[in-house]
Amino acid sequence: MAINLITVTEAKRLVSERVVALTSENVAISDALHRVLAADVRAIGDVPRFPSSAMDGYAVHAGPQGRRLTVVGESRAGAPAGQTLHDGEAIRISTGAAVPGGATAVIPQEDVEAHGTEILTAAAIERDQNVRAPGEDMRAHSTILTAGTVLGGVELGAAATAGLGAVPVARRPRVAVLCTGDELRAPGEPLGPGEIHNSNAPMLTGLATTAGALAGEPQRLPDDRQATRDGIAGALEASDVVLISGGVSVGPHDHVKPVLADLGVEQVFWSVALQPGKPTWFGTLGDRRLVFGLPGNPVSAVVTFSLFVWPALAALQGATLARKLEPAAVLGVDVRRNRRREQAIRVRLQRGDGAPVATPNGAQGSHVLTSLIGADALAMIAPGEGTLDAGTSVPLEPLAG
Ligand code: AMP
Ligand code: MG
Repeated sequence: MAINLITVTEAKRLVSERVVALTSENVAISDALHRVLAADVRAIGDVPRFPSSAMDGYAVHAGPQGRRLTVVGESRAGAPAGQTLHDGEAIRISTGAAVPGGATAVIPQEDVEAHGTEILTAAAIERDQNVRAPGEDMRAHSTILTAGTVLGGVELGAAATAGLGAVPVARRPRVAVLCTGDELRAPGEPLGPGEIHNSNAPMLTGLATTAGALAGEPQRLPDDRQATRDGIAGALEASDVVLISGGVSVGPHDHVKPVLADLGVEQVFWSVALQPGKPTWFGTLGDRRLVFGLPGNPVSAVVTFSLFVWPALAALQGATLARKLEPAAVLGVDVRRNRRREQAIRVRLQRGDGAPVATPNGAQGSHVLTSLIGADALAMIAPGEGTLDAGTSVPLEPLAG
C-alpha cells in the first residue's frame, strides 16, 4: 500500500494547530531561570528610585573650580545623609548613594583636594553632573519584559530591578520519554549480541529539558504489545507530551501504532515526506495531550524533534523564540535530491559576508549520530530530480540542542 506522505510544512502546521497553551503560575525569581514569561513585566516604580551618585566624591552645589567647601556629612549606599546641603557645604558620597536634598551635582573625588574637613574643588562642576536621575533606567509602570520571553540571567535581574519578587510564567510541559526496542541497553551497560546502547533516552530527555520541559525518567519498553500498552498508558496519564522513540514503522515488532489506536489516541498524521524522519507519527488524546512517535534511528529522532516537537514545546509555553539562525544558506557542495522527500541535511555553516555557506557535517545516514556533533543547522533540500548545485540557496531550520 502506498503511503500518503505529507510535507514537512503541512506536518508542522498540523502540530501547531493542536497546541493549547499551558496555564501559568507565579514563580520566585530565584526559581524562574529558563522559564517563559506568561505576562508582561512592568516596573513597579522608577529605577533608580531616587537621585543617586554615579561616582565616589562629594555632593555639592554646581559651580566653578576653586571653591572651599566644608564636609558636613556622608551619604553611603544604603545609608543616606540625614541633612540637607547648604551653601559652602559638601557631603561625602559613594557610588549609588542617595544625593542629599539641596545638592545639585556630585564632584568626583579625583577633582577635589581634601584637607581634613575641608575640600577645594579643582574642577568646575555642572548641574546634574554625575547624578543618576530617577527613572533613567526604568520608568514606573513601563513594560520591561514582554510575555513569551525566555528568562535568562539578565531577564531575571531586570525583573528583580523592576521590583518583582516572583514572575508569572507558563507551567512547564510534562514530557514522558519512552524508548521502544528489545535491543536497547542503558548507557554504560555491557552489550550482548545484536544489542545497542539507548542513545535516544538521554538525547530526547536532554532536548526536551533544554526546550523548557519537565522530563521524567525515560522508560525503555520491550517490543511487546502488552508492555508497550502499559508503558504508553502510564505516560499518557502523567504527561502533557509523550515522546515515543522507535516501533512506529510497519515491522512485525512495531507495536506503537496499534497500541495508540487502542488507547484512543487519535492519529493526526503518520509519515512525512522527510529524510531522515519519514515514519513520524503524531496524534492527540483529548484536546490537551500530544503524542509523538519518533523514528528510532537517533538522527531521525533528533531531526523530527527539532522540526516538530521543539516548536510544540515552545508553543505550549507561549515562548517567542528569537530566531538566531539565518533563514537560508548557500550550498557549499552539490547535493543529490531525493525524488519524494525533503531532506534535512546536518550542516556546518561558514559565515562571512552575505549568506552562510552550508557544508554537510559528515556522512548523512540516519544512524550516523556524529553528523549531529558540531552541526549548526539543518539545510532543507526540496524533493525533486537530479542535483542541487553548489551555490544554490536553501532554507535552514534550527537544530535542537
Ligand atoms: P525502529 O524505529 O524501532 O525500527 O528503530 C530504527 C533503528 O533505530 C533501529 O536500528 C534501532 O535499533 C534504532 N533505535 C531504536 N531506538 C533506539 C534508541 N533508543 N537508541 C538508539 N537507537 C535506537
Ligand atoms: Mg524497534
